Amino acid sequence: MIGSPIRHSRSPAIHNAAFRALGLDWVYLAFEVDPGRVPEALAGMRALGLAGLSVTLPHKEDAAGAVDDLSDTAAALGAVNTVVVGADGRLRGENTDAAGFLASLADAGVAVDGHRCVVRGAGGAARAVVWALAQAGASEVVVVPGRDQGRAERTAAVAGVVGRVAGGRLGSAADEVAAAHIVVNATPLGLDGGPELAFSPLLLGPGQAVVDLIPRTTTALLRVAAMRGAQTVDGMGMLVRQGALAFRLWTGCEPPIEVMRAAAVS
Ligand code: NDP
Repeated sequence: MIGSPIRHSRSPAIHNAAFRALGLDWVYLAFEVDPGRVPEALAGMRALGLAGLSVTLPHKEDAAGAVDDLSDTAAALGAVNTVVVGADGRLRGENTDAAGFLASLADAGVAVDGHRCVVRGAGGAARAVVWALAQAGASEVVVVPGRDQGRAERTAAVAGVVGRVAGGRLGSAADEVAAAHIVVNATPLGLDGGPELAFSPLLLGPGQAVVDLIPRTTTALLRVAAMRGAQTVDGMGMLVRQGALAFRLWTGCEPPIEVMRAAAVS
């Protein structure tokens, strides 16, 4: 795995537990790689004969430009989170974030088809989520900007005809959130216990599923959403599911989901 910062990632624990559970003689390691050095990291991967690689912040877009081939999803998102080495030695860039997100919703029993969705944020995770929701048949995917309106417009466009940016005035963005069936935080807001939440608690309530991508079992947003009567879905589900999809691509084995889930939260 390459990223920066990478020290606190749960992915090594998740994958190494899965390798042990299946008796595979594999190991998963995290490497701190500075921004701009993805081509060198991939060259090193080839030279060392690694079987695969996870790619995380801030390298996903650079990796899309540095692999030999892209899957359809990785091409659509312009981002790679998983590199697979083919039998011919070619590096194939995949993106399992979108499918991992949808799998985490399915695990929680949250339906997407025909429903209105709101996503706060416009970075790499938001792009994957917006694309996934549109693919899964959401009736609308409304992006509430993190801070940058232009970036939010580019992210909303990933959803095609069902994508748009929330109204410029605060009031109308609030209406969009209150009317949504699925509400997703794709920003780090609330990560370090900061006072600002991605959504006002007053807009959340029964009949909604509130998803926080922050990879923790609970967050301030999820706590207030639960108090307001909304269903909550944490980011550990997506982390485990996107990792499980990568595991299958690398090893060809069925991933031991419950083992991976237990390792993620241990
Ligand atoms: P990016 O840096 O690509 O995007 C971050 C987004 O958050 C941007 O839209 C940015 O706004 C917004 N943002 C950042 N700080 C603030 C702030 N102070 N106020 C308002 N908006 C802000 O990061 P990622 O998309 O990769 O990650 C976003 C979140 O998703 C993180 O918490 C990350 O941990 C989580 N994540 C979880 C995964 C999982 O498997 N559970 C997988 C990937 C990510 P702007 O557009 O204006 O710059």
